[in-house]
Amino acid sequence: MNPLYTSMPTTIFEEMSALARATGAINLGQGFPDSPGPADLLQAAADAVLTRSNQYPPSMGLPETRLAVARHYQAHQGLDIEADEVLITSGATEAIAAALLAVISPGDEVILFEPTYDAYLPLVLRAGGVPKTVTLQPPDWRLALEDVAAAVGPRTRAIVFNNPMNPTARAFDRTELAALAALCIAHDLAAICDEVWEHVLFDDRRHLPLFGFEGMAERTLKIGSAGKIFALTGWKIGFVLARPRLLGPVARAHQFLTFSTPPNLQAAVAFGLGKPLAAFEAMRAELQRSRDRLASALVAGGFSVLPSEGTYFLCVDLAASGVSGEDREICRRWVHDAGVAAIPLSALYAAGGGPTGLVRLCFAKTDAVLDEAAKRLIQWREARLAAHAPA
Ligand code: GLN
Repeated sequence: MNPLYTSMPTTIFEEMSALARATGAINLGQGFPDSPGPADLLQAAADAVLTRSNQYPPSMGLPETRLAVARHYQAHQGLDIEADEVLITSGATEAIAAALLAVISPGDEVILFEPTYDAYLPLVLRAGGVPKTVTLQPPDWRLALEDVAAAVGPRTRAIVFNNPMNPTARAFDRTELAALAALCIAHDLAAICDEVWEHVLFDDRRHLPLFGFEGMAERTLKIGSAGKIFALTGWKIGFVLARPRLLGPVARAHQFLTFSTPPNLQAAVAFGLGKPLAAFEAMRAELQRSRDRLASALVAGGFSVLPSEGTYFLCVDLAASGVSGEDREICRRWVHDAGVAAIPLSALYAAGGGPTGLVRLCFAKTDAVLDEAAKRLIQWREARLAAHAPA
């Protein structure tokens, strides 16, 4: 057995969801909406199951889906991309795995940004890569280019860059992105861009794909996810966009990971990606309202929350909320004593380290669920402050 896996814990997302299932807690941990998803996409998938082929589709994806992905990114992000520069994968995590397997040779260094989405590090290691971590600092989570430059060496081959970033809820600005692009070009790095949250942006922000920066299309593997775009996280339909020189090897990795992805869901995604702009704007507006609802309830109840520029998440600052203790312990108490599951941010730092005073909450939930969760957390906080008050 490989020691990486024998010593590996269950992911924090599965751990907290399992605890929520076992205790009946409200699950604001793992990021998934509690809505059924868009009815027209569900119907399109159901129709495709009944009326179309249920056999292997082409390994690269259904032609209609590849075309729909290319057209979607032309329309929404102005990208110069064609259908034959698109690969359909079984979720973005598979896309990231295939990209790393294709790009990394043993001993190559890969830059990760901390806090990191938890799959990156084990995937880099298993691909034979050597992770080099650049740590972002709360509460601004700005990308300090000097830190990135300091992490680059002669063996550095790639960056894995998540924008908008989970769990920090940060959408990087044009200045930060331009500097990162210039660094990739100067050091001839491949950019594996996990942009699954690209449509989940708030306060009129627009997504800026690194792929679109001058000189970056040739070196970028842009990864997206229908699960996040359509609030259907269980569908596990991802995409990789890249020029043929990069996409070819990723497709070779994909053919021996999952080979292909369910055709019926691909057909429904092709339909969904072509929906008018207003459908995507409505989704954003709805999530922004949910963000504001949870944030304002928590703040009114004495919690301090960090800004959320995008994603399904916001972070609570425990110390600034008057709650002492470490995030993992607080999350355990919240599940068992308050009935709310959350994600401790320290779980998303490679070698321990990182702040232990931040907890991530998912607000992609109905109003009633958000209100009840906020009420429980506020009551828990008040009880804790009362118990710890000087006599
Ligand atoms: N992306 C989800 C999150 O951040 C987790 C997905 C998973 O558990 N694989 O919560």
